[in-house]
Amino acid sequence: MFQKWKEKVIVNGIEKEIEIRKDGYWQRRCRIIQRAGLELTKEEDFSDLINKECIFCQPEKLAKFDFGMLENEVAFLFPNINPYAEYSSVCAFKKHFIKPNEFTALLIQKNLELCIEYIKKIEAEYISINWNYLMPAGASILHPHLQVVGSNYPTTYMEKIENIRFEEYVKKEIESERYVGRIGNIEIFTPFVPFGFNEIVGVAKGNIFKEYRSIAEALEKIIAFYASIGRNSFNISIYTNPLHFRCITRQNMVKYYRNDAMFFERLHNEIILEKKPEEVAREFKDFL
Ligand SMILES: [Zn+2]
Repeated sequence: MFQKWKEKVIVNGIEKEIEIRKDGYWQRRCRIIQRAGLELTKEEDFSDLINKECIFCQPEKLAKFDFGMLENEVAFLFPNINPYAEYSSVCAFKKHFIKPNEFTALLIQKNLELCIEYIKKIEAEYISINWNYLMPAGASILHPHLQVVGSNYPTTYMEKIENIRFEEYVKKEIESERYVGRIGNIEIFTPFVPFGFNEIVGVAKGNIFKEYRSIAEALEKIIAFYASIGRNSFNISIYTNPLHFRCITRQNMVKYYRNDAMFFERLHNEIILEKKPEEVAREFKDFL
């Protein structure tokens, strides 16, 4: 179900190689090209944004549920005023700006606790907890926030997962050189055909209500790893059934940056990478 092959091309007398991979479970392909500087490691100053208060700094001005807001010492959860589904909420940290290497497991766990409290209040078959960190990852507001999306209709990804042999897929990934190890109760690997740069996947048996602490512990390590390789923007989705998550880095927060989604990703549904997932797994293992 995992295949790969190579195409070769001579450019200016130099042979270039493109590795193409196909994952038969997900029916997805990616292309791994030789290093071309696709991933930004440059960091720029964006203190003008950090120093500006935002709407999430003023919870009294935010939308409320019938039951008000959910709140604890580190976060508060409120309705998304631009909902994506029947149930759509935002769980913002109380602090206006948190650097990637400052997200401790406890901080993430406390945020997830509110997301879970909200999930217990809704009736939806398909639920995910999602995170766009900084604008290159799609965040419209710098202030860090997670989002719970719940519906009785699946997303494209969720519908796909119902039709692939997910357990067999996970087993195959775990048996490969891309298996990183266990963090808490989470099995961690990098996928044969990633969805994005530096992708790390975590899979847990059981449900979100029991495993969220392990998830927070794993996410702390993954985000710290991203910070250690000079990445400051990322996406995370936690899918509640079957329980697993995917984390990818996005381009850094720099002016005039090159977007990492071009015609290949947007219109051919194919990811271009320059680092093999086996290499990401090795780097992350060394980091742990
Ligand atoms: Zn703010």
